[in-house]
Amino acid sequence: MMKSLIILGSTGSIGTQALEICRRDGYKVTALAAGSNIDLLEKQAREFAPLAVAVFDEQKAKELKIKLSDTDIKVLSGVDGVCEIAQGKGEIVLNAIVGIAGLRPTLKAIEAGKTIALANKETLVTGGELVNRAAKEKGVKILPVDSEHSAIFQSLQGAPEGSLKKILLTASGGPFFNKTRKDLENVTVAEALNHPNWSMGAKITIDSATLMNKGLEVIEAVHLFGLPASQIEVLVHRQSIIHSGVELSDGAVIAQLGTPDMKLPIQYALTYPERSEFAFEKLDLFKVGTLTFEKPDTDTFRCLPLCVKAINEGGLAPTAVNGANEEAVRLFLEGKIKFLQIAECVEKALCQVNNKKEFTLEDIFEADRLARECVIGN
Ligand code: NDP
Ligand code: MG
Repeated sequence: MMKSLIILGSTGSIGTQALEICRRDGYKVTALAAGSNIDLLEKQAREFAPLAVAVFDEQKAKELKIKLSDTDIKVLSGVDGVCEIAQGKGEIVLNAIVGIAGLRPTLKAIEAGKTIALANKETLVTGGELVNRAAKEKGVKILPVDSEHSAIFQSLQGAPEGSLKKILLTASGGPFFNKTRKDLENVTVAEALNHPNWSMGAKITIDSATLMNKGLEVIEAVHLFGLPASQIEVLVHRQSIIHSGVELSDGAVIAQLGTPDMKLPIQYALTYPERSEFAFEKLDLFKVGTLTFEKPDTDTFRCLPLCVKAINEGGLAPTAVNGANEEAVRLFLEGKIKFLQIAECVEKALCQVNNKKEFTLEDIFEADRLARECVIGN
């Protein structure tokens, strides 16, 4: 029996690649959700015939309801609609929403006992403690889709409990590798969106250019694998072939290699613990030739050390850096701030966070709101 699948963020980069796998491997798609792109969502709904779809944007949901009125597909709206989708019929919830908007649906899916295939790293960055606690209580598995974390997870299969000593988190270095602060002063949105190895959504592509993405991934790794940031080493690896690895207690280093193609980690989260044939381009090491490793330039790319500082402070600090970054990236994409100001916004929000060790979901959303306000008021 093929597994059944709910895809949140189905119209995005990860969502559409997941549907490519479903199309080929015959997974039953039971529900889909998106933000506002109802043209694509309608096409997906007609092709995969889910039981229900949700659109975050209320007005767009109304329009989609009319478009799909000749079908039996239920159309839901708003954050409640997306959460209802996350709890509906289906074994695995693939969360490929971008930003903190993914947090509530993840928690709802855990509540409903779903297996979580998690691409939405902001879920763990902001709500890692709550998510881990809820998943433990419900006995729910969180399977990483982020390529580095999938690689770490794959490298740990068969490793005895307690043997993980260090995580080797690889980074492509993004489009601005080796650039100085002076070079970065006036980079354009188009230059920042021009990632050398990966084709992804706009927000994560900017995060890759600032190295914020790697900072968020350090925080994500802390929550997924239980090591402190001091035991997570970031290596710039320009070829994006080693997707990450681990060092075990006997000094053995185990890593996962592959082409830079998100379909592999998405597929592994869907087939886990099994593996199935990969129908896309496979790795040819002769073609790659050389693998290189360098230390990240944390003086130029300030977002990475700021994220490390945030996770070391703990509490609501990671939420503050995340919220400030989401807002700053939006402003940068709209041409309203410069590239280097993104890190300035993140730093300011981190300095201003009203931190606490014990916190609720509402505290997270409040810290997120304050961090965004601090950026907009800049
Ligand atoms: P995209 O921007 O391409 O897609 C985002 C998806 O989320 C879209 O379907 C969008 O809908 C939907 N969405 C946005 N806001 C909401 C909301 N409030 N409620 C419901 N759906 C919403 O992003 P990516 O696919 O690139 O990234 C998704 C997540 O996966 C991110 O957290 C990213 O960090 C992570 N990730 C992505 C990788 C990649 O290769 N792309 C690699 C590793 C991790 P609409 O189209 O209607 O706006
Ligand atoms: Mg990644």
